Amino acid sequence: MASEFVFAPPATVSVPVAGQPARFPVHRIYCVGRNYEDHAKEMGFTGREPPFFFMKPTDALVVVDEGQTGTMAYPSLTKNLHHEIELVVAIGTGGKNIKAADAHKHIYGYAVGLDMTRRDLQGEMKKQGRPWDIGKGFEQSAPIGPIVPVAQAGDAENAEISLQVNGTDRQRSTVSKLIWNVAETIEHLSAAWELQPGDLIYSGTPEGVAAVVSGDTLVGAVAGLPTLTVKIA
Ligand code: MN
Repeated sequence: MASEFVFAPPATVSVPVAGQPARFPVHRIYCVGRNYEDHAKEMGFTGREPPFFFMKPTDALVVVDEGQTGTMAYPSLTKNLHHEIELVVAIGTGGKNIKAADAHKHIYGYAVGLDMTRRDLQGEMKKQGRPWDIGKGFEQSAPIGPIVPVAQAGDAENAEISLQVNGTDRQRSTVSKLIWNVAETIEHLSAAWELQPGDLIYSGTPEGVAAVVSGDTLVGAVAGLPTLTVKIA
């Protein structure tokens, strides 16, 4: 018997998978805060603190196909929209209390993502000790390119990661500089939440975060993965 709903339920959010027609259905979007030392420093922090996490709603994704340019509307309320280029880890097999040594068995693939941030609103919430949602979890705050299955992704966890705005370098580093690497991140995350197939993990951004304005074109890259291009409308 078909279920009935009081209005049409939203479609399943999904991301294309490079090299095959089937798509990756998204369950949750986790993000790691301050996970590169030089970015932690530019945000006013030092040292290796335990990893911490926040989430974005799945409908915050701006899904951009390979070779296409995605569009993100400049969001409301902010005067300081920041880019954060990140390696995204796609979980294929769920679990809780996953040990770092076993973490790679749970990874389906990798993608390039942007953790777009209303920095002024996030800063105000930090000052007041309030949740970051208004700074982080708004519509279109999570552009993402195609997911590349592990076997085709090369060494994404040691790859160069970069972001250009209008052709000029803003961020350039290597994923190997993560404070908490991908396996350690999965260990910590799965101690707090039971990971599910379809979860995405935005692993953190290197230094160089800065503002973008309407009309800017962002080109994000992790070597070995399809480039992510997004224009701010
Ligand atoms: Mn981030």
